[in-house]
Amino acid sequence: SIKSSKEAIELEDKHGAHNYHPLPVVLSKGEGVHVWDVEGKKYYDFLSSYSAVNQGHCHPKIVGALTEQAQTMTLTSRAFYNDVLGVYEKYVTEYFGFDKVLPMNTGAEAVETAIKICRKYAYERKGIPENEAKIVICENNFHGRTTTIISFSNDEGARKNFGPYTPGFIKIPFNDLEALENVLKSDKNIAGFLVEPIQGEAGVVTPDDNFLSKAKEICSQNDVLMIADEIQTGIARTGSLLAVCGNCSCKGKCERQEDTYTKPDMLVLGKAISGGVYPVSAVLADDHIMEVIQPGQHGSTFGGNPLGSKVAMAALEVVVDENLSQNARQLGELFRERMEKFIEKSESVKLVRGRGLLNAIVINDTQESSTAWDICMALKENGLLAKPTHGNIIRFAPPLVMTEEELHECCDIIEKTISEF
Ligand code: PLP
Repeated sequence: SIKSSKEAIELEDKHGAHNYHPLPVVLSKGEGVHVWDVEGKKYYDFLSSYSAVNQGHCHPKIVGALTEQAQTMTLTSRAFYNDVLGVYEKYVTEYFGFDKVLPMNTGAEAVETAIKICRKYAYERKGIPENEAKIVICENNFHGRTTTIISFSNDEGARKNFGPYTPGFIKIPFNDLEALENVLKSDKNIAGFLVEPIQGEAGVVTPDDNFLSKAKEICSQNDVLMIADEIQTGIARTGSLLAVCGNCSCKGKCERQEDTYTKPDMLVLGKAISGGVYPVSAVLADDHIMEVIQPGQHGSTFGGNPLGSKVAMAALEVVVDENLSQNARQLGELFRERMEKFIEKSESVKLVRGRGLLNAIVINDTQESSTAWDICMALKENGLLAKPTHGNIIRFAPPLVMTEEELHECCDIIEKTISEF
C-alpha cells in the first residue's frame, strides 16, 4: 500500500491517463467536512467532490445502507426485477414530485438520457420531421464529457479534436430570455431547452431571479421541453432542495410554493443523489413524456441496481433529517457576508457570488495568470482544499453538514491566506 503522497502521485503519473490536473494532495480518509492526506494532515474540504458529497464524507447512514445491501444483492441487471428498484422509484418520484424516473449511473449518462427522451418526444408527440429536432443550450454550459455533450460545449479543451460533432444544438447566451424567445419563435423544430439553473463549472454564474420561471413560461408557450440539469446545483446545495425551487422556504424538502418553484419538464440529477458513495443519476419526468421510452430503447447494465437504489434513498433521507437545505442557505448567507466585507479591503478578490453553499470568488487577475492556483496551493498549506475553475475563479462548496463555527474558522483561513497575495 501507499506510504507517501509522493509515491501515490508518481504512480498516477506513470500509469494513469493525464486527463486531470489535480492539486498535489493525496487523500486517504474522509469524515463529514474533513479529509486527511496520506501523511495524516487534516483539511476542510471546500469542493465536496464537485458537489457529490453534500451529506459529508462517509456519512454513516449512507455507508450503512451500502454495506447492508452489498451483502444481500448488488446487481440483477434489468433483465429481471429486483425487490429494491420499485421502492426507490416510488420514493424518488414522490420526493421530487414527478410521475416517473429513469435511473442511470453518471451525470453525463443522465444528460444523454434526457436528450434522447426529448428528441423522441419531439418526433412522436410534436410531429417534428425525423432527424430535424434541435435542442437549445447555453453558452459556457457544462453537462459532461460524452461525444454528444462536448459537441455543444464552447470550452476548446473539452471539444478540440474530438469531432465530428453531434448536430442539432443551438447555443444562446445564458440568462438571456429575449434570445430564448427569439430562437423558439424562429424555429419550429426546437424540441427542448437544456439549462443549468446556476452554471457551476463556468464559475458559479447565477442568473436573474426570474430567469428560470420566465424561461419555463416561454418553453411552455412554444411547446418546448425545459430540461433542468441539477446534477451540481441539486440536493440542497444552493439552499433549497433544487435550484429551481428558487428562494422558497422549503424545510429540507421543497414545499413547491407556486410563486417560486419552477417545475421543469425533465429534471436531471446525479452526484449528491447518492451522497458521493456510489454512482447514481436519474432523469425525472411526468408520464406523458416518459412513456415515449419503451423496452429496448434505452438502458444501462448498472442503472437502477439495488445497491445504488438503497444508497440514494439513504442519501435523500439525510438531506431531510439533517435540514441540509436550510443549513446551506444560512451558511451561504454568512459566507457571502464575510467575503463581501473582506473584499472591501482586499486587492486580490474582485467579487463573490453564488447561492447557498455553491459560491465562487473571482480573483482580480487574468484568466491566464496562476494566482488562483497559487492561492489554492496556499489554502492547502493552511488546511483547506479548493480548486480553481476557469483560471481566475475559485469555487467554494463545502459539505452541507458544516456548522456555523466551522464555517467561521474556514473564512478565517481563506481571509488570512488571500491577504498574503
Ligand atoms: N452536468 C453538470 C451541471 C455537472 O456539473 C456535471 C459534472 O460536473 C455533469 C453534468 C457531469 O456529471 P458526471 O461527471 O457524473 O458525468
